[in-house]
Amino acid sequence: MEQLDIKSLYYTELQEVLKGLGLPAFRAKQIYEWLHVKLAGSYDEMTNLSKDLRLKLSEAYPITALTEVDALHSAEDGTIKYLFRLKDDRVIESVLMKYHHGNSVCISSQVGCRMGCKFCASTIGGKERDLLPSEMLDQIYRIQALSGERVSNVVVMGTGEPLDNYDNLIRFLRILTDEQGLNISARNITVSTCGIPDKIRELAKEDLAITLALSLHAPNNEIRKQLMPVAAKYELSEVLDAFRYYYEETGRRLTFEYSLVNAINDEEEHAKELCRLIKGLNCHVNLIPVNPIKERNYRKSENKKIQNFKNILEKNRINVTIRREMGADIDAACGQLRKSYIDKNSKEDCHN
Ligand code: SAH
Repeated sequence: MEQLDIKSLYYTELQEVLKGLGLPAFRAKQIYEWLHVKLAGSYDEMTNLSKDLRLKLSEAYPITALTEVDALHSAEDGTIKYLFRLKDDRVIESVLMKYHHGNSVCISSQVGCRMGCKFCASTIGGKERDLLPSEMLDQIYRIQALSGERVSNVVVMGTGEPLDNYDNLIRFLRILTDEQGLNISARNITVSTCGIPDKIRELAKEDLAITLALSLHAPNNEIRKQLMPVAAKYELSEVLDAFRYYYEETGRRLTFEYSLVNAINDEEEHAKELCRLIKGLNCHVNLIPVNPIKERNYRKSENKKIQNFKNILEKNRINVTIRREMGADIDAACGQLRKSYIDKNSKEDCHN
């Protein structure tokens, strides 16, 4: 395996690395704190290290830090959408959302995505690569440093399928929840997946009390297959069994995401079928009016239909909310900012 960058290392691993360089133990504590608490973007900021040591470390263990390319501020609700550049010049997006209960950051887990969900902008160019643990962490670190806002909640719901980048995801979660790091409570972290049963079961055994969200989007296999190619690989029953297992192992209430797409999955009969499907599960359903993307002609459900769908779930005593659209004025749908940036830049390349 390629050697991990310094920001992706656990504290104990960092101790080992620095010991190997002949440094005293307290240096590991200092450097870990600079990286994960004081959110330093370079060794130059680590003022309690000598110049020589900073130079030596920057040559041996370069720090992964994202650079801000763009930030769009929503005038409506304070949402900020960031576009960051990675060291290989690829770009990713992350979003800061401000709620009464605290600030939440939505991060990407991969550059692009290979899951192919039909209504999603992130998947159009396929997957370019996985993100390193440090690159997931740094989306939160940079946003906290740039905005001056303390981040208390994290959702892994941006571009990418987190369970398709499993090892890096776990490392990211452990460092993010580390008491010696930013110390974000696992209870305030949600990971959203399109549903990969064996990985859901593995996650259940990690002893991480995070919330798991399943992108369900359909009350049966047939409709799910129309919207999500991954549904052709894993039957809904298999995915739900794994999800139930996650609940049994962790005791965490399950979340289902259901994007309402006009005339595809938003009829009364679909709502009733959904109630039967998830009956008896300790869960919460998030209804998301689909955010139309220009590459596909899916349309948003009418408000009346969305409300009716919600009422049917409520009548069946299912916890349900309609997700408030955040930053609708700034292209906040999953992957849209990155997509428009890439489209614009590739056009410019053609003209050159
Ligand atoms: N791959 C993961 C996480 C990223 S997508 C997953 O599938 O859950 C985060 C959520 O946004 C998913 O529920 C996804 O289906 C949904 N989503 C993506 N594009 C959307 C769009 N245009 N409108 C509504 N929901 C969308």
